[in-house]
Amino acid sequence: MSRISTDVAVIGGGVIGLAIALRLRADGREVVVIEPNEPGSGASYGNAGTIADYAVLPVGTPAVLRNLLPLLLDADSPLSIRTSALPTLFPWLARFAWESLPHRYRDNTRRIAELLSDAPAAWREFAAEIGASDLLSTRGCLYLYKTQKAFRVAATDIALRRSYGVAQQLLSPDEVLRLEPRLPPVEGGGLFFPGAINLIDPGETMRRLSAKVHQAGVTLIQASAQRIVRQPGGTRIIAAPFEVRARTAVISAGARSQKLAAQIGDRVRLDTERGYHLEFDMDEPPIERPVCPTERGFYFCPMHGRLRVAGLVELGGLTAPATPRLVQKLTANARGIFPNLGEPSRTWLGFRPSMPDSVPVIRPSRGGRDVILAFGHGHIGLTLAPRTARLVSALITS
Ligand SMILES: Cc1cc2nc3c(=O)[nH]c(=O)nc-3n(C[C@H](O)[C@H](O)[C@H](O)COP(=O)(O)OP(=O)(O)OC[C@H]3O[C@@H](n4cnc5c(N)ncnc54)[C@H](O)[C@@H]3O)c2cc1C
Repeated sequence: MSRISTDVAVIGGGVIGLAIALRLRADGREVVVIEPNEPGSGASYGNAGTIADYAVLPVGTPAVLRNLLPLLLDADSPLSIRTSALPTLFPWLARFAWESLPHRYRDNTRRIAELLSDAPAAWREFAAEIGASDLLSTRGCLYLYKTQKAFRVAATDIALRRSYGVAQQLLSPDEVLRLEPRLPPVEGGGLFFPGAINLIDPGETMRRLSAKVHQAGVTLIQASAQRIVRQPGGTRIIAAPFEVRARTAVISAGARSQKLAAQIGDRVRLDTERGYHLEFDMDEPPIERPVCPTERGFYFCPMHGRLRVAGLVELGGLTAPATPRLVQKLTANARGIFPNLGEPSRTWLGFRPSMPDSVPVIRPSRGGRDVILAFGHGHIGLTLAPRTARLVSALITS
């Protein structure tokens, strides 16, 4: 075993762990990141790339709770479940149902809105710091409503977002086409979020972030953390062939954080919402900004040299392979808007680290500040990475 000693060991080098490592290094800490794969190659690579200041609503809402069964069973719904995973998922689902009750939903929305309040500004600063400002596009984000009824149903969500100060503009069907002329007409119109930013290449953004972390003097060790143990003066992390001794350990292993947290006594109801993307290589994507056909639960994302189609939620754990039916469904849904898309150039399955209340866990371990938990960012981990890094840094330095 090679022994390494450091101030802070960050377990997991996704966007959350890397952003934390960079922040702590800027604060003058000695930092080691433990990551078995290419840093940033998990969920942080394959997402829709939106810095979503508008995403204040949790996944679990009273409306989702009322329609949960049809949503899970309807083949056209953006939500699905692998029935073989039902027994394991049951505790998470039960908690999700509870968190979807009106009073919990309101409270969860408030907590998410608070975290998101400065997300675009924080990302601009972060992108400048990691040399990725050229990868930000500031053309906002567009929701589409297929029918007038769908638009009317969205009124409550729109009002709630407005109450949290989210900038949003209602668009008539004609205004949607003026903004994105290559879309087919939509009867229900659209909702434009002018403050949203999108990354034109999340993978390249992660490469630059990782390079910056390395350049800042953080040690990256390629290993998987198997065990965390508390000991006098800090923690010991077994990550064969390494043993890392750190005054503070940060658990930021995305969807795989639950077992590590349990080892130090924190029982956290983390699971995964599996998500997919398809990419269609092309020089000029047909849209200028992320566009979400709301009833289908995915985004068209214009990216460098390709159109990415990202979304869906599949409850089904971390080990099962991609479900071919969902890849086909996403392809068919994408072609429902742009019929000439052809075959995807590549497909991807990733694992959102998801809490039943959609609120990330960013706090010290119940057993003490020698371990900090920073995971469970669900659908908004990319958006919240700079903010999470600041919060973790404040927890460690205070
Ligand atoms: C289809 C899809 C679309 C999305 N769209 C958006 C979006 O538009 N905007 C947005 O803000 N968010 C979006 N998200 C969510 C976002 O991608 C995630 O919330 C975010 O990437 C989580 O970052 P993370 O660092 O926690 O996890 P990850 O990126 O998954 O990183 C976790 C890392 O921990 C490592 N690890 C695991 N176990 C161990 C261990 N034992 N020891 C050491 N390391 C370990 C893994 O190898 C991995 O690299 C989307 C997600 C998906 C799937």
